[in-house]
Amino acid sequence: MPKGHHYGRTQTRAYTGEYHRIHANVFKQLLTKPLGNYSLNSDYLSDEHQKLKLSGLDCGVRLMTFIIKDKQHKIALILDNRSVSNKLYITCPYCQKQRQSLYAIKYAYGCRQCIGLHYASQSERPSERLMRRIRKLRKELWGYDWPDVNNMFEQVSYWPKPKWMRWKTFEQKRGKITELEKRYWPMAVAQMDSLFGKEYSQLM
Ligand SMILES: [Zn+2]
Repeated sequence: MPKGHHYGRTQTRAYTGEYHRIHANVFKQLLTKPLGNYSLNSDYLSDEHQKLKLSGLDCGVRLMTFIIKDKQHKIALILDNRSVSNKLYITCPYCQKQRQSLYAIKYAYGCRQCIGLHYASQSERPSERLMRRIRKLRKELWGYDWPDVNNMFEQVSYWPKPKWMRWKTFEQKRGKITELEKRYWPMAVAQMDSLFGKEYSQLM
């Protein structure tokens, strides 16, 4: 066992039950340390979340193996040499995608997407946010049951006035939605271009 690492302690720690995030940077020193057993030494993590075995693959990639509830959780250390900063990524044991951080959940590690932590305001694209807003305003006017209330290909220009509403109010509200719809489409098309290439949007 390498000096300075406290693998094998028997003390059990109370698991907080909250998602504790671990940044890839924490593991940077493991890129050059000898292979073997290590511990993360974090008060926020259970013993099983702390103990890891560092091994190397034939291709040179280093792998951390955690044994949590008798299951192996393998996380690779991927150094991005293309960037000046030599950014380190760790792979999610579930989706295998390279991540800047993983979360400790009860019996595993996982990336934000895999464990379903969803910070809507952070991960949402501007066009998605706008679409959500348009649908919300439509529902306020025409109700949840209106057939095309979620259909972004339908525009509200010819939708009827609710009986109880004054024309002036209605036209104001509808005008606002129409204005947002006009802003929405250029954004949505630009997004499709970047996702699928120009050909895709021209076919539409
Ligand atoms: Zn994942």
